[in-house]
Amino acid sequence: METVLLKNIDNPKSADIDEYLKAGGYRGLSKAVTLEPADIIEEVSKSGLKGRGGAGFPTAMKWRFAATDPKFPKYLICNADEGEPGTFKDRPILEKNPHLLLEGMAISAIALGSEQGYIYLRGEYPDARDILEASIRQANDRGYLGDDILGKGLTFNIHVHQGAGAYICGEETALIESIEGKRGQPRSKPPFPVNQGAWEMPTIVNNVETLANIPYIIEIGGDAYSGIGSEDCPGPKLFCVSGSVNRPGVYELPMGTSLREIIHDHAGGIKNGRTLKAVIPGGLSTPVLPAESIDCRMDFISMQGVGSMLGSGAVIVMDDSICMVSVTYRAMKFFEHESCGKCVPCREGTDWLRKVLERVENGKGREGDVDLLLYISGTMTGRTFCPLGDGAAGVVQAMIKHFRTEFEEHISEKKCTYKSIN
Ligand code: SF4
Repeated sequence: METVLLKNIDNPKSADIDEYLKAGGYRGLSKAVTLEPADIIEEVSKSGLKGRGGAGFPTAMKWRFAATDPKFPKYLICNADEGEPGTFKDRPILEKNPHLLLEGMAISAIALGSEQGYIYLRGEYPDARDILEASIRQANDRGYLGDDILGKGLTFNIHVHQGAGAYICGEETALIESIEGKRGQPRSKPPFPVNQGAWEMPTIVNNVETLANIPYIIEIGGDAYSGIGSEDCPGPKLFCVSGSVNRPGVYELPMGTSLREIIHDHAGGIKNGRTLKAVIPGGLSTPVLPAESIDCRMDFISMQGVGSMLGSGAVIVMDDSICMVSVTYRAMKFFEHESCGKCVPCREGTDWLRKVLERVENGKGREGDVDLLLYISGTMTGRTFCPLGDGAAGVVQAMIKHFRTEFEEHISEKKCTYKSIN
């Protein structure tokens, strides 16, 4: 498959607008300015594009809610706050293909009737900030952004807003609060951002990769795009692979590629001659899968079928030397630290889970601790204000479901049995 999202990134000057234009860039925007906004949304609808940030919501459906809302101004926000451990798929677009994102945002803004866009950028990506700001200046100078896009009288300006390092600001309503200058905590929904988002105006929040798909959809048409990859969720997908593999990195493959192909064919298989033990398929908050599940296809429906989630497509690979209690404990330290504290089940639950996991990992676990972990996580599921709490609980539940004996061994042996084989 020809690359779409990572096209031209081996060119050392790929972020420059002239190199982007040489590779066919801004053709989608040139076509979009000749279309009616409703026609752009119709092409995206025909393409079957679903959001690439993890939720998998149909992009065109989301756009229609905001586009048909009579309130103005409307805001378009690019969520570039990829702060989940294991997730680095958007980084190559931000740093090496920034004009693809800007073009996608400009087309989306025309479809939505938005004149103001924001890129909410992860605080830990300072290089991307400089690259994006330089690219926005270039696009303004050439008439692809600004107050008279391609001479058609269309206006769209983009600002980069850098986060301060809070994972929860990747949640769209916390992100909006942060852009407004408030503490980054999730809002109650409804009302949904599509009708009442930034400054209470219609607001679309789309992931970097979602927006980067838009130019190609407009260029080749929604019907042609829908033939790529999985029927349920077509299109190219970025998979970022880390952990016990020979070739960690970001791979652009058709949606629906199997985990086996991603790990063994593209990421070079398990390193140091070890064997595969487990995979976290879509970023730290997605339920772990045992090695025998890797023939599943990486798309939203197939992953649900094996008890996990596609998430962001961040594949974390673990070999047979890795202690799953230790992984669960470290994951919970992260969730406890990043819990915003707004709701009790998450604030207290992540703290208790971390405490129990800490003692189990350190050989001080008590009889009944495994059931206690399941009990605490059960009190969180479905009772938290945003997905962070559910995700944290799901991590523990899936680890115990697939690797319960490891937890029990830690308690009965009063030590981590895996440290001896590391
Ligand atoms: Fe905050 Fe956690 Fe509640 Fe989300 S689930 S609002 S992160 S306390």
